Amino acid sequence: MDTPFIEAKPILEKLHKAGYEAYYVGGAVRDYLLKRKIGDVDIATSAKPYEVQDLFSKTIDVGAKHGTIIVLHKNIPYEVTTYRTESEYEDYRRPKKVSYITSLKEDLRRRDFTINAMAMGIDGEIQDYFNGKAHIKAKLIQTVGSPSERFTEDALRMLRAVRFISQLDFTLCPRTIEAIKEHIQLLNVISVERKTIEMEKLLKGMNIKTALHMIVETNLNKYLPGLDMKKQELRLLATYNMQLLETNEELWTLLTFFIKPTRIDHFLREWKLPVKLIKSVEKNIHLLTILQQNPWSDLLLYEAGYETALSVERLRTVMTKPDELKANINKIKHSFSQLPLQSRDQIAVKGHEVIQTLNKTPGPWVSKAISEIEKAIVTKKLANNSSAIKEWLMSCKQDFEQNY
Ligand code: ATP
Ligand code: MG
Repeated sequence: MDTPFIEAKPILEKLHKAGYEAYYVGGAVRDYLLKRKIGDVDIATSAKPYEVQDLFSKTIDVGAKHGTIIVLHKNIPYEVTTYRTESEYEDYRRPKKVSYITSLKEDLRRRDFTINAMAMGIDGEIQDYFNGKAHIKAKLIQTVGSPSERFTEDALRMLRAVRFISQLDFTLCPRTIEAIKEHIQLLNVISVERKTIEMEKLLKGMNIKTALHMIVETNLNKYLPGLDMKKQELRLLATYNMQLLETNEELWTLLTFFIKPTRIDHFLREWKLPVKLIKSVEKNIHLLTILQQNPWSDLLLYEAGYETALSVERLRTVMTKPDELKANINKIKHSFSQLPLQSRDQIAVKGHEVIQTLNKTPGPWVSKAISEIEKAIVTKKLANNSSAIKEWLMSCKQDFEQNY
């Protein structure tokens, strides 16, 4: 058994000792059978949420009314969810009623796809009531039960299906594709937050190409923020090797670069992405646009900063000559190491010395003066040593007096 399961084992043992059933379930079991890296280990149990809370000393109530309690074990959080059924789904997204049950099989039945509806016991035995193993072998994403019914209950499952195409390099059978096409407009009621979680997993997937084509084929793009009317752009994006990208920021940058929204910030805010990520994407796109006309200069490299420069070079190369990625990245690393300055704190004079040298009252001009020094050093007009900088400051004194 893989380490993440062994680490979670004491939780299952404790539940067993108290007389409850407990299994590993969902994505972890699927990934174990696929020999993929295992993410979060989720646990299903016959114990009720309050019983789980009573049994463990460190718990967090994240959704007791839906049956989920987080148990912290050796600082790792585990979602422990009571066996439940969901019934009478409200407006294609929420179960109206969650009932606790005693049957593992019925708990697995409410799950989205057969590959996600398996459980594994503490002894490693797999409980597979819905052909999950066979579908893993056939690389098939198939709903537990009728796709039409399951997509009508919770429309997000349609986007999840396409996310698994990308993540696992699996396929959908024609009946499932037809059901998605038929029910796709139900995605209108799904919250952006839920869509964004799936989209990020989709963008990171190994078979994003097929997933993007499936988005276009099923009209899913109409129900994703800012992607309506962008089929052509998504087809073009699918021709690039996105697996070469390394960070979330890079993936969103490439998507945004091809979508060409009128306002980058508006587009990304519609996806409710964090401000920090939005700022990075804006910076990346600004640099990419400059690099379409000009090569990297020392100043551009410096102003980008090390990590951003590498990201932007990765993006630029993926869009132009992906075969040269390694060489280009090494070139940037080398050029950066050769810059006369890698960051502002390496400048040989500090603010108070600038003030002393020019004999002026401190004010916002100091930071501007340091920016000028910085620029002059990076562009090799000025050596980075204290006396050279002071001399240079004196020679520019008049400029500072007029402009700052
Ligand atoms: P990943 O490894 O990428 O997290 P995952 O399969 O664990 O994939 P989660 O979104 O973490 O996906 O969901 C955990 C499990 O909960 C799934 O494996 C599935 O059994 C069930 N599940 C999640 N979302 C749904 C849904 N919308 N409808 C039915 N079952 C779901
Ligand atoms: Mg998961």
